[in-house]
Amino acid sequence: MTDHSLFPTFARAPISFEKGEGVWLYGSDGEKYLDVMSGVAVNSVGHAHPHVVEALKRQGERLWHVSNWFEIPEQAALAERLTRLSFADRVFFCNSGAEAIECCIKTARRWHYAEGRPERVDIITFEGAFHGRTLATIAAGGQAKYLEGFGPKAPGFIQVPFGDRAALEAAIGPTTAALLIEPIQGEGGVRPVPASELAYLRDLCDREGILLVLDEVQTGMGRTGKFFAHEHAGITPDIVGVAKGIGGGFPVGACLATEDAAKGMTPGAHGSTFGGNVLAMAVADAVLDVITAPGFFADVARKGLILKQKLAGLVDSHPTVFAAVRGEGLLIGLECRANNMKVFDAFRQHKLLGCPAGGNVVRFLPPLIITEAEIDEAVARADAAASDLAATLAAQGAAA
Ligand SMILES: *Cc1c(COP(=O)(O)O)cnc(C)c1O
Repeated sequence: MTDHSLFPTFARAPISFEKGEGVWLYGSDGEKYLDVMSGVAVNSVGHAHPHVVEALKRQGERLWHVSNWFEIPEQAALAERLTRLSFADRVFFCNSGAEAIECCIKTARRWHYAEGRPERVDIITFEGAFHGRTLATIAAGGQAKYLEGFGPKAPGFIQVPFGDRAALEAAIGPTTAALLIEPIQGEGGVRPVPASELAYLRDLCDREGILLVLDEVQTGMGRTGKFFAHEHAGITPDIVGVAKGIGGGFPVGACLATEDAAKGMTPGAHGSTFGGNVLAMAVADAVLDVITAPGFFADVARKGLILKQKLAGLVDSHPTVFAAVRGEGLLIGLECRANNMKVFDAFRQHKLLGCPAGGNVVRFLPPLIITEAEIDEAVARADAAASDLAATLAAQGAAA
């Protein structure tokens, strides 16, 4: 395989896939892989889920795209469904996580503008955050490695250390518009924000007259065992960005807001050619059918606990490879002692597809439809991979 015609922006593992079914991916090497990365929390209902495939086919034969210059009943219906399932009253559809967060940022600033406070533009974010790769979202994420070489960092973003209340309160001033935070930092290494801290952030925003914006691109759509991760903390945000799991593999993103928070987003304020495209709406609607079935989220929570307990067992049995396990529902991070890219490679040797993250972590974010037997199989493969890696590390240690 040569990919010399592509931008070499990705460090790709040397493998490709031809077919998927449930939690399984079939490699072009003839091997069958257990997929616990789900395209980074995207294939929420697994690969080629029959109900979703059927919805895509049905819509594909009828109508693919009409302009947002016209009414799109499928879009209005999906928005209404999302509002019934959540804190939100209003939805804007787009095509990716970064676009969803861009819309969140615009919505927050525009709320202050509509309220007669146009000077309130600053978005406060947290160290270790990831919000996407557009110029605004790399400024929001604040990571030097993503900003380098792309010119001036977009103004209006202030970053504070994760969990430092004094620094946060000192950063809030007359130009602050909103706080933007992931309930669990995903790319940053599966770092959960404690429920008490989210409740504190909610209070702080109310006190300061600013908006609480949550990036649930990775944590939303049932990933943590509730529709949204913030539900665990019993709080309601003002604005939330979603993407990844909502389309189950079809590019869909959305910005959800309360009626009040959305009030600046008047006709002409924002737009997207593909956003809310009828194919995307049909697929997302079918994904929602699957994940909102009675008991589905409780089952995700239950399976997440099982997975976390079993991975904790691996931390005990492979102390040179793993250091700790954390996360919620089926978003679990295994912090490594060995280099996490080596762990990722060792997993792949055992036909297990995990997902690297910051903080030397390998993530388990399997399709939400994974069974207990498949969880056992994933843990067995991770165990075997860790034994291999531990032996290699021991041999290298002895040689050194
Ligand atoms: C993946 C991700 C994004 C960016 O989504 P894209 O679809 O890649 O633009 C933003 N925020 C979080 C929390 C993510 O995990």
